[in-house]
Amino acid sequence: MTRADRFAPASCPRLVVKIGSALLVDPDGTVRREWLAGVVADLAARHLSGQRLIVVSSGAIALGARRLGLPNGGRACLEDAQAAAATGQIALSQLWAELLASEGLTAAQMLLTLDDLEDRRRYLNASATVARLLALGVVPVVNENDTVATEEIRFGDNDRLAARVAQAAGAGGVILLSDVDGLYTANPGSDPQAQLIDEVTTLDDSIMAMADGGSASGMGSGGMLAKLQAAKIAHAAGAHLAIVGGRRDHPLAAFDADGRGTIFPASGGSGARKAWLAGRLTAHGRILIDAGATSALAGGASLLAAGATAIEGGFSRGDVIDIVGPEGRAVARGLTEYDASEAKLIAGRRTAELATILGYAPRSALVHRDHMVLL
Ligand code: GLU
Repeated sequence: MTRADRFAPASCPRLVVKIGSALLVDPDGTVRREWLAGVVADLAARHLSGQRLIVVSSGAIALGARRLGLPNGGRACLEDAQAAAATGQIALSQLWAELLASEGLTAAQMLLTLDDLEDRRRYLNASATVARLLALGVVPVVNENDTVATEEIRFGDNDRLAARVAQAAGAGGVILLSDVDGLYTANPGSDPQAQLIDEVTTLDDSIMAMADGGSASGMGSGGMLAKLQAAKIAHAAGAHLAIVGGRRDHPLAAFDADGRGTIFPASGGSGARKAWLAGRLTAHGRILIDAGATSALAGGASLLAAGATAIEGGFSRGDVIDIVGPEGRAVARGLTEYDASEAKLIAGRRTAELATILGYAPRSALVHRDHMVLL
């Protein structure tokens, strides 16, 4: 197994690739189109091998600032950044749509705020949308919704956004393409002794101390610290993360070939993701289920309304609930797709009846298997 195999289609069916502003846009504000076409060709090759891809693309602020003639790359104040983002995002989407289309791929745009992934309801919505897009073979292109995200509700950097998106998408890997080629023991710009670290298994204080906060290029906002924070989020979600230099042509193919970069391996694969889910919050309620549903769950199925016999507690959509078998023992824990009041209405009812009972198109399950852990 080579270093990059963890991120290869065979072992990582869903991959998040984040592209930093400094790679996408030259200091004078022009798009690095040829380089980006190489990235898209790499993505298309992976897509053809069966990997489903989510792109997290920065560059809206840098692009917009140029068009509007704003100082400091559009980052002089929040209002400038928001105006630049609004102007740049439309160009950025067009760019991605064109380049992906030239490889026969369909692009979808998702603009997210921190709230969208922190709020439990909206986390489920974002996660379901990504799952559907990937199932349709579409490539979601994600950015922070900078035009509305104010300081308190902002990620501020796309490194952490990429890791959170990986968590919501159940992705097994995150590649952060950056203008630096990994984590160094010291700042390589000022210290000739600085060495590239190949692999980080424990993100302890000594590792965190190697990062400084700022962006090396001054164009994006995510410095090494943001990348290490992203690695922490990915680790907790059971996803491998790599910081890979994006200055080369075809940087993903190059990474495949030589594995150069810093890899933060996940410890337990999808098990860790489920452990995170299980340990996340105390349960807000219980869904009692029948014997048939209990064995369906054990076989890896989602919990359908038909299998529920009773609903206990005043939970809301997105809350953690315990799923209790006929013997009175919790057999699973998961995030509920419905508020308790709706769950009560549909408990024991067949899928075909749900739209009439609820008055709207039902979700695919009461608790989806992607958001469930068996106990
Ligand atoms: N969302 C910002 C943009 O599109 C980039 C954030 C970052 O630099 O990480 O310009």
